[in-house]
Amino acid sequence: MAKKKKDFKEFYKRAKFRTGMKKRVCQFCVKKVEKIDYKDTRILQQYITERGKILSRFVTGTCAKHQRQLTRAIKRARNIALLPFIGR
Ligand SMILES: [Zn+2]
Repeated sequence: MAKKKKDFKEFYKRAKFRTGMKKRVCQFCVKKVEKIDYKDTRILQQYITERGKILSRFVTGTCAKHQRQLTRAIKRARNIALLPFIGR
């Protein structure tokens, strides 16, 4: 089932290694977004997969603070049917 913490750390290390010098900056921090708007599906859709899953921090480079907001925004958007639960 769920990955062990150790595995997760290992994965993170490797991901960092792979990306090398490439700096991944949180896009919300760059734009200085204070609150993520759940009605803005254009932005939210960049952070979910084709199947409607939320992308992890390690993929998108979003910071912890904004990732938390993002998850909440996506879940809210799903509830009012702005985003699909399962992709087409
Ligand atoms: Zn951020």
